[in-house]
Amino acid sequence: MKYKRSLLKLSGEALMGKKEFGFHSSSLQKYAEEVKKVVDIGGQVAIVIGGGNIFRGLSNKNMKKKMIGRIGGDYMGMLATVINGIAFQAYLENLGICTSIQTAIRMDQIAEPFVKDRAIHHLEKGRVVIFVAGLGNPYFTTDTAAVLRAMEIKADVLLKGTRVDGIYTDDPEKDKYAKKLTSISFDMAYKMEIKVMDKTAFILGNENNLPIIIFDINKKGNLKKVISGEKIGTIVSK
Ligand code: UDP
Repeated sequence: MKYKRSLLKLSGEALMGKKEFGFHSSSLQKYAEEVKKVVDIGGQVAIVIGGGNIFRGLSNKNMKKKMIGRIGGDYMGMLATVINGIAFQAYLENLGICTSIQTAIRMDQIAEPFVKDRAIHHLEKGRVVIFVAGLGNPYFTTDTAAVLRAMEIKADVLLKGTRVDGIYTDDPEKDKYAKKLTSISFDMAYKMEIKVMDKTAFILGNENNLPIIIFDINKKGNLKKVISGEKIGTIVSK
């Protein structure tokens, strides 16, 4: 196994499957099975879960009408990640995986507060840790939260599971000659204005030397392959 401890960023969009809102049971089941394959071979997996399938602070219509401001919208987005975390926990536990949810906004009845050392302890015991509520601050995204949490728990890699199988020279849906890049520097990723991940996340990854792999989470077996070191997706590194 190349990456013993990984931080998987699962976006809300991924949980939605083909639906336009909320979550899709078979997608949750599929990702839980992917995680199980890694846990079964002794991989330590922490997850930062997004909330865009339920609520996104910046793009919600109410905000445009100025009914709900940015900060309120962001808190709603963070709470959406908690809903996703609880849902995904159920699918993991159903497969016999021990889990713990850690939240950046205290809600003691639902989840433990985020404590780095406790998170590491859970991982060492073979439990999957699900980080919810992002960083607990408005004006951030769960991509940025994923980089920060990865650094805090000393993850070997950040895995960004998406619908695309990596970074291309151009948008492959628009340009049929676009080529997939197997590796790319942080500087390049930043300059290319890649939409698959936030710029802040790339900056933090670069400053802290955390490799980020963008890969297709929907392809069966991919998560285990990435962790084993197979060249899947695009690796962004120094
Ligand atoms: N959010 C926030 N601070 C954080 C993480 C998330 O304010 O630290 C809010 C923000 O409004 C964001 C929403 O929560 O749009 C959902 O997160 P995100 O858009 O990152 O989810 P994803 O795109 O991964 O589904």
